Amino acid sequence: MPIRVLAPEVVSRIAAGEVVERPASVVKELVENSLDAGSSQISVETRGGGVSLIRVTDNGVGIPVAELELAFQRYATSKINDLDDLESISSLGFRGEALPSIAAVAQVDIVACAIGESAGNYLSLREGITVNRGSQGRSQGTTVTVRNLLRNVPARLKFLKSPATENSHIANVVSQYALAFPEAKFTLAVDGRTILRTPGNGQLIDSIIEVYGLEIARNMLELSSEDGGWKGDSTFSSVLVKGMVGSPSISRSNRNYLSFFVNRRSIGSRLLAWAVEEAYHGLLMQGKHPVAVINISLPAEEVDVNIHPTKAEVKFQKERLVFSAVQKAVRRALLELAPVPRIEEVVTSYGAPSVPAQPLWASPAVDHSPTSPSSPVAQPTPTLSLPALRLLGQLSSSYIVAEGPEGLYIIDQHAAHERILFEQIQQQSSQREVEVQGLLEPATLEVTPRQDEILKTHYEKLAEFGFSIESFGDRTYLVRAVPVLLHRKDWAGALRELLDSLSAEDRGDWREKLAISFACHGAVKAGQALTDDEMRELLRQLEQTAAPNTCPHGRPTMIHLRSGQLEKEFHRS
Ligand code: ADP
Ligand code: MG
Repeated sequence: MPIRVLAPEVVSRIAAGEVVERPASVVKELVENSLDAGSSQISVETRGGGVSLIRVTDNGVGIPVAELELAFQRYATSKINDLDDLESISSLGFRGEALPSIAAVAQVDIVACAIGESAGNYLSLREGITVNRGSQGRSQGTTVTVRNLLRNVPARLKFLKSPATENSHIANVVSQYALAFPEAKFTLAVDGRTILRTPGNGQLIDSIIEVYGLEIARNMLELSSEDGGWKGDSTFSSVLVKGMVGSPSISRSNRNYLSFFVNRRSIGSRLLAWAVEEAYHGLLMQGKHPVAVINISLPAEEVDVNIHPTKAEVKFQKERLVFSAVQKAVRRALLELAPVPRIEEVVTSYGAPSVPAQPLWASPAVDHSPTSPSSPVAQPTPTLSLPALRLLGQLSSSYIVAEGPEGLYIIDQHAAHERILFEQIQQQSSQREVEVQGLLEPATLEVTPRQDEILKTHYEKLAEFGFSIESFGDRTYLVRAVPVLLHRKDWAGALRELLDSLSAEDRGDWREKLAISFACHGAVKAGQALTDDEMRELLRQLEQTAAPNTCPHGRPTMIHLRSGQLEKEFHRS
């Protein structure tokens, strides 16, 4: 085939592929437009996972009738003028690509009423071409309605996930912008059900209550960054870090609860995630991640927002400065506002090299692999079954010390109990004999929009594990019974953690995830003093498990010092 320039409609379809990956990308672009238009009220409505309908209504500046059609032309924007503007972008949009891209892959209707106009005007586009126009009453602002998204791009449509998953992505986009703009009132209605509504009173904490619920909100600490100033090495720090972070007591099992906004743009950033997790170093258990909503403000020319097709990432000119500003602000808040006792690693009296015992609080970034080659003293015991053990006592309220025929055992009480419960839960559920405890009064469980979508697809399965849960309106559920194992324990935390670790598509290993999460929450904690009888019972049950040496997460439950190793240490031949 000879080389030739592609026809405009082919070009638009290709370009649309960059912008419109899935329904949530359309929601993101439209909400960004509403925010750029200075709206204080933004309502998002979707149906059929966003494929049948997405409608975003705002009360922003509107679009003058003379510019309505222009807004749908490629590279038409009111936000930048020239190359200089591209160097310092203060709006969320700037490429003039969103509306034409969306119109290329969906049916779009827009009604807008600009400041000073007495009535609204509408425009209907099919395949990007205007098919209808006229005037229509509406107050100042803009409504964009998108129907049959990607219907004309079957290849892309095929890759969309279930409506529940697409809804959870949409809920996530709206939640993020609701957190970034607490001064705007957001509502999100999915298939006619309002799942998010923020007050728009400018208080971040109130948006957090709506997005994450009261329990998280109660445990959030406010960040106070030092204002910009000279930083010794003659760089002027103009990075301002604001927002809130969760106290270590509300850690989560994934990074979904880390939100970053750079000059109020919602972005993903491994660098910033790392900065935050560094700040929590030593305060969170291995595999746990913090909750954080972090706003970074810096001069627009110090950040390049034009590096990613959907503007989901940015590049900082002074990366190190931003990293350390974020890390310091978070660390300061944690140390000043939530002084958490730091539980040190158990160190043996043998001196160096220290026993690489499993620390109770370890940074997720650091590998505390207990089988590291630098540990000649103790290895997790390789034997699979456990001999009968004689209790010697408890160490640091966290470890059970016991003697066996082959030497000394130091057992992590939490990990060991997790193993016991995990096997019990699996056995009970496979034999359909989970012991259930009815609650005296039904408890309510509030969930985030994302958790809500997952719960809806899984809550019948939860019944198999002893939960009796029913929907009770707006992201709230009534819990009437829980598994006996979790009664008087943090079963709500266990449920939330489970919902976070599942996706709506999960069909396969959800039973195991469920058992792991429930075992973890049902198990005794580190730092809990146990009676001798309790410890003996725990040892007895551990002896009976199929895999006593590791907890269900795969971490060791114990270290084993063989008598022979002791003799070597004491230089007894
Ligand atoms: P961009 O946001 O990059 O400028 P878009 O294609 O998203 O490009 O929008 C094109 C133009 O249409 C915008 O620059 C803006 O002037 C106008 N526009 C789009 N949505 C709205 C809205 N909700 N309110 C006011 N103006 C809007
Ligand atoms: Mg835009």
